[in-house]
Amino acid sequence: MALSQPQPANQIPSPVPGAAVVVEDLHKRFGQLEVLKGVSLVAHEGDVISMIGSSGSGKSTFLRCINLLETPDEGRVWVNGELIRMKQGRHHAVPADAKQVDRIRSGLGMVFQGFNLWTHMTVLQNVIEAPVHVLGVPKAEAIDRAEALLQKVGLEAKASSYPSHLSGGQQQRVAIARALAMQPKVMLFDEPTSALDPELVGEVLRVMRQLADEGMTMIIVTHEMGFAREVSSEVIFLHQGRIEEQGPPDQVLANPRSDRCRQFLARNL
Ligand code: ADP
Ligand code: MG
Repeated sequence: MALSQPQPANQIPSPVPGAAVVVEDLHKRFGQLEVLKGVSLVAHEGDVISMIGSSGSGKSTFLRCINLLETPDEGRVWVNGELIRMKQGRHHAVPADAKQVDRIRSGLGMVFQGFNLWTHMTVLQNVIEAPVHVLGVPKAEAIDRAEALLQKVGLEAKASSYPSHLSGGQQQRVAIARALAMQPKVMLFDEPTSALDPELVGEVLRVMRQLADEGMTMIIVTHEMGFAREVSSEVIFLHQGRIEEQGPPDQVLANPRSDRCRQFLARNL
């Protein structure tokens, strides 16, 4: 058998071929504060991974490192098999290739706690904006797809409304439709229901559950433990920038080995 050639540093193949997201030993610092201290994760296609943990444990930073809203200081990230290339900037690591950043981001849908809709655009305009202007999808086709997505999230009747006329739950469902309009391979959710009145949480979780059932790969930061237990293939408990416990939802959420995880759940269930 021929010896394999040494790989140039920027072409290291994913250690888990076929996985949607692979993160290896991710470290992130803000000044002196090391927020992520070596976090690894593998999301296979169709996985639903829930991340839980106290405020400040690094959950948002972790998601933001995957879609390059933050640049990891150390470690490697592959998205859909492609290694994100970094280089050393003046003070810290920066992405090496802006085109790659665009490509990686267009494969990832992100939904935040705040709904971040464009307030001067209608619901439909919000959903077609990026497909038309970033992907170059013809407008008529983008509208067709947007209408189908709005139907999927139960908001086809609100296509010509402005975000300010929608409830928080409706706005968040538009945000999900808008992310899906880019046909991402992976959806990242950062506490998508935390800003909602309690009676509006269910309608957003229902849409997320449907996505999970359809096989969407999802990484979800959430405090909704019941939801996490029902939909997740894996639950990760982050504590001070490290994975303290991970495993199937029934283990991590009902029978954790770690005392810290147990204490966290006692405060949050
Ligand atoms: P979580 O989402 O689990 O609540 P975060 O990832 O938001 O945690 O934050 C982890 C830590 O990193 C916190 O101490 C937070 O204050 C700090 N942090 C997050 N973003 C920044 C930033 N841009 N600059 C400085 N510190 C930050
Ligand atoms: Mg957060």
